[in-house]
Amino acid sequence: MVSGPSGSGKTTLCRRLADEKEAHYSISCTTRLPRDGEINGKDYHFLTTKDFQSRIDANEFLEYAKVHENYYGTLKTEVVNQLAVGIDVVMDIDVQGANQVRSCSDAQIQAALIDLFVMPPSEEELRSRLTGRGTDAEEVIALRMRNALEEMEHWPKYSYRLISATREEDYLNFKSLMVAERLRVSRLK
Ligand code: 5GP
Repeated sequence: MVSGPSGSGKTTLCRRLADEKEAHYSISCTTRLPRDGEINGKDYHFLTTKDFQSRIDANEFLEYAKVHENYYGTLKTEVVNQLAVGIDVVMDIDVQGANQVRSCSDAQIQAALIDLFVMPPSEEELRSRLTGRGTDAEEVIALRMRNALEEMEHWPKYSYRLISATREEDYLNFKSLMVAERLRVSRLK
């Protein structure tokens, strides 16, 4: 699982890993509205709050959390079905969701778990990335900036941290982590 503030580049990293068939990208559910160009079922499963709540009630989520005033959650089916057939799963989730996954009791998930925190190299760079996206209103950016700074305090809970540089360098490091983890003796048993 990969966490990090908006603008850290973590979604791009996770998506690329999936595009290169290294892992399955877990498509999350969210109650936030789609951004321009986002496709339902590909970027997210966009749900109404009522739909999201009924999935909570039906115990369908591996984890869920309220982030930036919307709900986000990972469906158990997105993860366990893939792991069961030996496919790695990459999850792009916030720090609250990561805490829940860390404490989940599913042995298969625990055995497969790698947690990585991606962070921008500086506050200035973060601000410029959040502004540069150009899709969100000023107050949304301000809220994300506050949340990002708060979220960044959680990196010591993760086993791995990546300080973002260029897209290529980041991906190379990310991929190297996956390769190294796959060589772990405990994973081969
Ligand atoms: P965005 O709205 O920019 O796509 O995502 C906002 C935040 O929600 C990001 O930090 C992202 O990692 C987090 N997020 C996306 N999907 C999930 C999920 O399934 N569970 C949790 N807990 N967080 C998620």
